[in-house]
Amino acid sequence: MGDSEPKKKGGLKLGSKVWVRDVDVQNPDVFVIATLKGIAGKFAQIETETGDKYETDLFFPANPVGHHQSDHTALLHLSDATLLANSKERYALDEIYTFVGPILVAINPFKYIERLYTPDLMGKAKKYPVGHPDRPAHTFSMAEAAYMQLIKQKKPQSLVVSGESGAGKTEVNKQCMNYLVWRACDESSDLATRILESNPVLEALGNAKTVRNNNSSRFGKFVTMRFNDRHRLVGAEVQTFLLEKSRVVATTASGERNYHIFYHVLCGARLLPSSEPEWARLLKRSGCLTIPHVNDQEEYGGLVNALRNIGVSVTENREVQELVAAILALGNLTFGDEDNDAASYISEPDVCTLAASLLGTSASDMEAALLKATLKVSKTESYTIEQDPKKAVLGRDAFCKTIYQRLFDYLVVRINESLGTALAPGLDFIGLLDVFGFEIFEVISFEQLCINFANEKLQNFFLRAVFKAEELAYKNDGIRWEAITYTDNSAIIEVCEGKDKGIFPALDSVCKAPKATDETLATTLHENHARTKILCRPKAGGGGKGAAKGLSDKEAFVLKHFAGDVTYSVLGWLDKNNDKLSEDYEKFLTKSKKVLIRDFIAKKDEDAKGSKAGAGAANKPQVQQTVSKGFLGSLKKLLDALESTDAHFIRCIKPNNELKPNLLYGAFVLTQLKCSGTLEAVELMQRGFPSRIPYASIHERYKSFMPDFVQALPPSEFVEAIALAYGLTKEDYQLGMYKIFMRSGKANFLEELKDAN
Ligand code: ATP
Ligand code: MG
Repeated sequence: MGDSEPKKKGGLKLGSKVWVRDVDVQNPDVFVIATLKGIAGKFAQIETETGDKYETDLFFPANPVGHHQSDHTALLHLSDATLLANSKERYALDEIYTFVGPILVAINPFKYIERLYTPDLMGKAKKYPVGHPDRPAHTFSMAEAAYMQLIKQKKPQSLVVSGESGAGKTEVNKQCMNYLVWRACDESSDLATRILESNPVLEALGNAKTVRNNNSSRFGKFVTMRFNDRHRLVGAEVQTFLLEKSRVVATTASGERNYHIFYHVLCGARLLPSSEPEWARLLKRSGCLTIPHVNDQEEYGGLVNALRNIGVSVTENREVQELVAAILALGNLTFGDEDNDAASYISEPDVCTLAASLLGTSASDMEAALLKATLKVSKTESYTIEQDPKKAVLGRDAFCKTIYQRLFDYLVVRINESLGTALAPGLDFIGLLDVFGFEIFEVISFEQLCINFANEKLQNFFLRAVFKAEELAYKNDGIRWEAITYTDNSAIIEVCEGKDKGIFPALDSVCKAPKATDETLATTLHENHARTKILCRPKAGGGGKGAAKGLSDKEAFVLKHFAGDVTYSVLGWLDKNNDKLSEDYEKFLTKSKKVLIRDFIAKKDEDAKGSKAGAGAANKPQVQQTVSKGFLGSLKKLLDALESTDAHFIRCIKPNNELKPNLLYGAFVLTQLKCSGTLEAVELMQRGFPSRIPYASIHERYKSFMPDFVQALPPSEFVEAIALAYGLTKEDYQLGMYKIFMRSGKANFLEELKDAN
């Protein structure tokens, strides 16, 4: 529904109100209201409320004020401008949820609105089925729709929640989870507690404060809630994707923190010489040590409890904390002068000894792992070399990242055990997807390509699913369905994963080539895609959004994503894709006396792993393959799971970047609606009969204007009589079982009707 389509102005009268794009392009609200003064061809003469008069072809009929709709598709006039106006009107009333047909748009209120989460509202969501005028626009209603469809269709369902960082995905996921637990979990079972307690554990390990969100999830998550044949909730399974492990050791940007668990353990467990975050180099570098309104000491208590509630024993609980503390201790070590090639030494031997004891190993083994490396010259021959300080730092950092990732994976396995996943295979499920949104940042690298590619795949899935849902909406109301076509994003998906030439396969083959560098990769990609218009060379001075400004085609490429052009820098991609821990560190881990480390963090022959790993096969560390292969594998698994479901989509929107309540910037919201594919979905709907108004609501609203004999007609005849009287032709509408389906802009006869009386 782009600006280029303002032509559907059916029935617009001079003097009526229209939205026009503000001449001030800086206006964060995008559109202003104006009065239509004249029409010449496709141009309109308009006068704004501030007295500006001009001609424009970018004008959209406005809806009457004070008639906001809980479903955007019920608006008399549907366009970018009215969708935004409806959202704003509702947002100002704390109505943060609005349907767009089968999709729910949720705008983050950045404040707790108590009346939205009462048992009464849960009851309403349960009571009113899809299509009922009293059905609340709410996440609960979406969860209920999934649940009812699971029962009726005997088919798995999914709730796909997307949006940019800080838009409210995780909160929406929790609301849906709470609803399903309320709806279908037996009170006598403690499964509900275990399901809900899995959230604080995952958040402690996988969430961090970023500049976009104080509680940002740095991993993707798909939770499948399993139901038995009586439709009761009997188990669940968590799958995670792409934990941003670089955060553990990378210098975090100013205003950002490391993962929450580090601060909780540091000040709560007292395993280190100080309980102040300033002590730990991995925490103090960003200069951001605390989060407003969060007490890490209290959070520590909550974490220990949550771990206990998911079945982690006292000993195991302690070992988890010791591992976390060990990473902080290791982060404090320095290895001499980093600019010097000399052999490194540990400047803080006490801290090294402490790290060793926290990991259950000897100080000498720890020191050897940190400072020495085995160099294999043949299958049988190897010798030991001393690491220079730079290499020692890289090795230590890789070690910290790996053990953290493995701890995260291990706890996911433990969560899954506690949720009875093993007991409930093959049951119907409702999957809840909390996935990172499309990313256009200053530094765009391999991780963002993975995230953005996942979003392309999900966008493709979304469009197909919306298309299917549209078909179903027509079918359910007994309406003739004419297949409509839409452009999808298969071409860019091919550019990313296509056999041999795709970016991911090309990365894998470049990684295997001897002496290949990041530059080899960039050159290969440009050669492979010289003919496509989707992967391009960066323009001089930097192309696409994001930084990467001034990067050459040897260092970067531009991808034309559905959400916009993005420049990716290929710096470090070969290393990132290989990402293996050295054999020396692997051996070191097996020497640990701690059960957690020896049995679950140390890499073992996967088949020889004990039963504990069995339940969470999805989260087993993928040490053998490249990162890209592992990622594509888990993404495929996710999409296969989603394809097996009927999907229900919730699009989360961030109203402003200041994280403030009661503040909504129109332009910012529109961009997100576009990036999330919501505008495209509306456009798809618009090509059919997007205005769908239940007979009952039209009858209710307009009956007082009608003579008695019209009032007495059955609802569908009542509506058709008025439609025909106001000049609609049979092409303009179709009568369904419960609703009238109208072409875009054709519903305005209802307003004319009101004006005339
Ligand atoms: P990320 O991708 O960074 O993980 P997200 O989309 O998961 O972001 P959330 O963590 O769910 O975003 O939300 C960010 C913050 O916004 C929450 O911590 C909370 O303060 C606020 N918030 C979100 N949704 C709601 C809501 N429905 N009611 C009140 N506050 C909310
Ligand atoms: Mg989140």
